[in-house]
Amino acid sequence: MTREPMPTRFDFAAVEVRWQAEWRKREVARAPTHPTGRTFSLILPPPNVTAFLTIGHMMGDTCMDVLVRWHRMQGDAVLWAPGVDHAGLSTQVAVRKALAKEGVRLETLPREEVLRLVENWKNEREARIRRQIDAGGFSVDWTKYRYTMDAGAIRATREVFVRLYNDGLIYRGERIVNWDPKLRTALSDLEVLHREEDSELLTIRYPWADGTQGGLSVATVRPETIFGDVAVAVHPDDARHAGAVGRSVRVPLTDRRVPVIADKAVDPAFGTGAVKVTPRHDALDFQIYQAHTAELELVPAILDLDGRLGSELVPVEFRGIDREKARGLVTEALVSAGAIESRRPYRHSVGRSERSDAVVEPLLSAQWFVRMTDLAAPAVAAVRDGSVRLHPARWERTFYSWMEGLQDWCISRQVVWGHAIPVYYCPACGAEQASVDVPGACAKCAHVGLRPDPDVLDTWFTSWLWPFVSLGWPEATEELARYYPTSVLVTGRDIMFFWVARMMMAGARFTGKPPFADVYFTGLLRDELGRKISKSLGNSPDPLDLIAERGADSLRFALVHPGPVDQDGPFTPGTLDGGRNFLTKLWNVVRFVHGHLAEGEEPTTVAPVLPPGAPIEHRWILHRWRLTISEVDRALRAYELSEAASALYQFLWHDLADVYLEWVRGDLGGAKGDAAALTARRVLTFVTERTVRALHPFVPHVTEELWHALPHSGELLALAPWPREEESALDPEAEVAVGVVLEAVRTLRHLRSEHQVPLAAAPDAWLRPSGAETAALLAAQQDVVRRLAKVGTLTFIGAAEPVPPEARGTVRPSGEYFLAVPKSTPSSDALQRERDLLAGLLAKTRDRLADPGFRSRAPPSVVAETEEKARELSERLMKVEEQLGRPAGPGA
Ligand SMILES: [Zn+2]
Repeated sequence: MTREPMPTRFDFAAVEVRWQAEWRKREVARAPTHPTGRTFSLILPPPNVTAFLTIGHMMGDTCMDVLVRWHRMQGDAVLWAPGVDHAGLSTQVAVRKALAKEGVRLETLPREEVLRLVENWKNEREARIRRQIDAGGFSVDWTKYRYTMDAGAIRATREVFVRLYNDGLIYRGERIVNWDPKLRTALSDLEVLHREEDSELLTIRYPWADGTQGGLSVATVRPETIFGDVAVAVHPDDARHAGAVGRSVRVPLTDRRVPVIADKAVDPAFGTGAVKVTPRHDALDFQIYQAHTAELELVPAILDLDGRLGSELVPVEFRGIDREKARGLVTEALVSAGAIESRRPYRHSVGRSERSDAVVEPLLSAQWFVRMTDLAAPAVAAVRDGSVRLHPARWERTFYSWMEGLQDWCISRQVVWGHAIPVYYCPACGAEQASVDVPGACAKCAHVGLRPDPDVLDTWFTSWLWPFVSLGWPEATEELARYYPTSVLVTGRDIMFFWVARMMMAGARFTGKPPFADVYFTGLLRDELGRKISKSLGNSPDPLDLIAERGADSLRFALVHPGPVDQDGPFTPGTLDGGRNFLTKLWNVVRFVHGHLAEGEEPTTVAPVLPPGAPIEHRWILHRWRLTISEVDRALRAYELSEAASALYQFLWHDLADVYLEWVRGDLGGAKGDAAALTARRVLTFVTERTVRALHPFVPHVTEELWHALPHSGELLALAPWPREEESALDPEAEVAVGVVLEAVRTLRHLRSEHQVPLAAAPDAWLRPSGAETAALLAAQQDVVRRLAKVGTLTFIGAAEPVPPEARGTVRPSGEYFLAVPKSTPSSDALQRERDLLAGLLAKTRDRLADPGFRSRAPPSVVAETEEKARELSERLMKVEEQLGRPAGPGA
């Protein structure tokens, strides 16, 4: 049997697709129906069908897949349930925008036509989202796929509504809601974004109604709403207005009289201390009105649902005019009428719709609400008593503070796309009933022909049920029994309130359990300009393009290493280079090992057992592997995914490739005989195979490919067992000994660079060891030291022995080191070669430093090290150029 040599390059395009197909065929991701032993379950947060997945989604999905594959390799029964979210209002807004580009206004289309268009939109995005998930190599169980508006989700949503309704936790009430006049729907408080904007503060004179001289001055930024005034209010303790309370004023531009009332809610410091009360169009005014219902009359709304002035109360010339335009016209009319006392620029907080950017209109409107206070208590308790743990824990404070200030949740939306509110009204007797099934007749009077509620539910009203509804609730399914509560939720902190907190409330209410034990918040990715990468900004590259260009594994690795996944960081085109470089290194290491395998090499099912007194390098690399795999396990258990990736990166790159491979290179070639070659091959194969295995959760495709090139047992790496830390032993003695050898290498390398020994030269070296033990150790390893430090001879000298005059030295704990520094001036050719080499290295190092992705994501120590390297290279380059008689280049 002859082994095919491995390809020199990793052809990711072919490899990734091949293994994805193989995993599908072998149903690697399929959750066991009757799991025995431990389970690990989670839902894929259902992405909105508004758009396609962004690079931010890919980061979250990579984190989940790392955890999923890690648990699967540990033998846990894993269920990872994918799905998509209908995203009611957002999707309708997206379709509305697309139609507007074709000159069609969504509101003019019949309901059925809108539903058909939105359905098409959803189908297209859903298909592409599924392709994106597959292309990333994410091992979700597609047989558990759910959609937030499939038949089961519709039934579950209605069931929850009816139960909360019957328990008095859902009610319909007239409240001031956030009205989006552009989209013609109510919004929840969370969908309103507040920011400071410039406006104008007017002081308007309201004359006394009885005709006496003077009146009350009222400050407002919304003169167009004066037609809806029902009173002017002052603070009861405001001495300036003491005589005014109980009198009446006339609303300017009209004949209407309204009383002056006293209410503690008025801020005497604002404007003149007197404010107009317009209860249908302002939350505070509505509150004032409610405290004075006996004195005041609630007049009809003076703004319609499109935000235009309209009603009998509005003078004819302003009717039908948009609020923004009306503001100017009413101001002009007030100026002409001599009613304006002052106007000045004014900056204040304005609420805008997250969906349409329209200024949100406070509007008194009948809407459906969920009472939150009682629901919130078990969610808060779960975090306090540790049954739900937030990672990183710093987000707990934010969580508590939000849960304390909870308002009732407005859940009705006036759009077409969404779950219907399951409430029916009887036109005959006026009765109202909530029902899971569409009722045939009135429960009270048996009248047939009930009128359904015209509104739909906020999309989060289904999302908050997702951990149990996606597993089949309210049916008592096998999945719910076996896999609920789920193990972990991985999501962005930007939806901590919209979603995470509400899921905890719903889980406690309907299943009696928190829906997950751990919540892992990933960070937010930012673009080159520092903006959050998001669907709405459209600044995310399409992950499918990146995968086509660089491969899924490069992308996955770059997203978790080296920047911490749970902190915000930039994602730039340069970010992907780190992932690609690492995969190249991994490929080359395995290719080297593969090239040294013997025919019919046995799979390394157990760690090689080393004889007593075995060479320290083998003991050391097994010890390093033991430390590495322990750290990977620790970090993954603690949801420190970047640290786990970093431990494997360091081991592969530095311990395995830089040190061990170089150390045993000679042995592998048989330089020390067959027994030494066999030991080296066994140990090398073992640590390489285990590294490939432990990297599988991070970079599944390339590791699956490489694993098949190494001796292995089993058919698929995806189903192979996770490496156990106790396989190899800790060996502190070997660590100390190799530490001394590596110190010798580093010291000689440092002397080389300090004295600008040309890169190609191998000068002689001398060592005066600090003790007998060190002397024996380094003498035994002098071949390795010479090879790694690239020196010619290494001579051990005693305390009194002199070194040649051309030697330059330095002192370390292990001894005094000397290096022969050539006196003769190197030839101009040699200098030029040296200069080109240095210039190339310097350019590479500077490119790395210039990449903002590297600067902000790499650990500070690595950045500092790289900066130091650039400085050193630059100095050496300058000296070489001086010797060449050229002008020195720019410094570091
Ligand atoms: Zn009835």
